[in-house]
Amino acid sequence: MARIVMKFGGTSVADLDRIKNVARHVKREVDAGHEVAVVVSAMSGKTNELVGWVQGTPKVVGANSPFYDAREYDAVVASGEQVTCGLLAIALQAMDINARSWQGWQIPIRTDNAHGAARILEIDGADIIKRMGEGQVAVVAGFQGLGPDNRIATLGRGGSDTSAVAIAAAVKADRCDIYTDVDGVYTTDPRIVPQARRLKKVAFEEMLEMASLGAKVLQVRSVELAMVHKVRTFVRSSFEDPDAPGMGDLLNPPGTLICDEDEIVEQEVVTGIAYAKDEAQISLRRLADRPGVSAAIFGPLAESHINVDMIVQNISEDGSKTDMTFTVPSGDVEKAIKVLGENKEKIGYDVVQNESGLVKVSVIGIGMRSHAGVAATAFKALAEKGINIKAITTSEIKISILIDGPYAELAVRTLHSCYGLDKN
Ligand code: ADP
Ligand code: ASP
Ligand code: MG
Repeated sequence: MARIVMKFGGTSVADLDRIKNVARHVKREVDAGHEVAVVVSAMSGKTNELVGWVQGTPKVVGANSPFYDAREYDAVVASGEQVTCGLLAIALQAMDINARSWQGWQIPIRTDNAHGAARILEIDGADIIKRMGEGQVAVVAGFQGLGPDNRIATLGRGGSDTSAVAIAAAVKADRCDIYTDVDGVYTTDPRIVPQARRLKKVAFEEMLEMASLGAKVLQVRSVELAMVHKVRTFVRSSFEDPDAPGMGDLLNPPGTLICDEDEIVEQEVVTGIAYAKDEAQISLRRLADRPGVSAAIFGPLAESHINVDMIVQNISEDGSKTDMTFTVPSGDVEKAIKVLGENKEKIGYDVVQNESGLVKVSVIGIGMRSHAGVAATAFKALAEKGINIKAITTSEIKISILIDGPYAELAVRTLHSCYGLDKN
């Protein structure tokens, strides 16, 4: 007997038939004698609809978000998961499985106060562990918890993955299965590159990079938690026949295992390619080249919760003036320009320019640590396709390249094949 957490994403619970199909996956594990907790997302499209409704309301000035009251945003957008966890509990009961639904506040899943992008602080697993021991399936609403203000807090888009891994850690599950609409983690998004290959295993660190650089198959925070708490996490498909051979295999279920790098026998130099759309570039021209100028720019941006990513500073020709360019998510450009305007005198620049609709493509692999020339291969391949590079950043295990939006798919395909990742 094992203890398993099963998470089902939006497309897997998109309608009543799919919810019944999910119930069959759960029944398979229950029938095998395992203790099961299930985490569900909202039906696909639901969260977008709810977010759209909130964004359509008049802006609340003076609340803790410049656009609307983030606590009420959470009250609205958390409702999608409330519906699906109730429906799945009913579907399970109809199959004679003892099940009940849990909202985040009922467990409770305690979070910090960052409404809209809250982090899980603590989960009291005692009650669900006890009930799982009595044979009851816990069906938990993903994406939500309870803030210190006793109000619903949501975990940021894609947050149900994080709910699942956090619950798996809290109940000391033997496995956390993330069921989605693809049958594992691929060398790149299989919807963009049909040549992408499914990976049997991915190291935590690589998955962390892939997720934070745009592969939305897992939320970044879920990978962090899996890494820290050593949660055995599989990404697998909910669309396969729940009763097909091997689906209930305890140690080697179908899908991709996210694991420590020493569990991976054949490590390639490059593991995958990720891309993130909607990047924007901001340049400050004729900036004073003196100590403290970076702090004067990025301090106020950080205080306004603007995530700055790539930063490029030119060396000044005459030792007095320079240019600084950096990227932010396109949605933050307006806010960033406003903050820079307010701090113009303190920073000391001439003009600010910006360009939106850019894309960041990234090459990821822990094998890069011990190989030279990996970046040069990318630059050459992109040059041969006439793709201009606007900025570059590197770390030990990744290279990120900023390009114009329209070239995104061509760049991803080009990089995927230049590192030999295409399937035969
Ligand atoms: P869910 O609703 O189940 O949480 P998501 O849409 O959040 O599903 O994530 C699954 C999607 O992630 C896939 O449909 C796929 O298009 C996308 N994706 C991006 N990069 C990858 C990758 N490297 N491997 C697998 N899927 C990826
Ligand atoms: N429903 C939420 C979202 O769409 C959380 C999730 O699906 O993981 O972002
Ligand atoms: Mg998701």
